[in-house]
Amino acid sequence: MDKSILTLGGPSWINLVNTIYISNKQEIDILANASSVLQWMKENNLVRESDVLALEKKKLLDSLIVELQSTRTLCNTILSEIEQNRKLSLRTTNKIKSAVEKLQGSLTINSESEKLKITFQGKTIEDHIMYGIMDSIINTFENTSLERIRKCNHEECRLYFVDTSKAGKRRWCSMELCGNRKKAAEFYSKKKKK
Ligand SMILES: [Zn+2]
Repeated sequence: MDKSILTLGGPSWINLVNTIYISNKQEIDILANASSVLQWMKENNLVRESDVLALEKKKLLDSLIVELQSTRTLCNTILSEIEQNRKLSLRTTNKIKSAVEKLQGSLTINSESEKLKITFQGKTIEDHIMYGIMDSIINTFENTSLERIRKCNHEECRLYFVDTSKAGKRRWCSMELCGNRKKAAEFYSKKKKK
């Protein structure tokens, strides 16, 4: 697996949607593989250092994967509503709301950097990870113009990303994965036509 796939979407909720991707015309599901799930969560900064050891327990990881799968379904719905209507339905908004209201934890101050920041500490590992994903959804709606959320232009790719480039013309999930192979294909088809 190309490690860049884990985070190229930007916010973790979009990276969660991207956990199903196409590679060599085959569908790969990162959530179907325990060690890939762990890697995905770490790369997306969803796991606290103190949680790493506990996550080696199969039972905990399995129940977490079930939650991630249903959250992925929710994130897919969010994306398709953005694509179709540029806003969320009341039903989806309520689903996000009830997912957030389920979370248990406490607030603390992160004083690692010079700026003090209030952060949420989940009561359980699940609470903590789900908070991270929910927070990323809300953050996107607060700080991102929705047309900047796009699907990769390559017809065989289904990855999404937030275009944070200045010009806002990003077309590919990544140049390495799709941009170059598309350009090569265009080059050869032009050559054929001549
Ligand atoms: Zn792509």
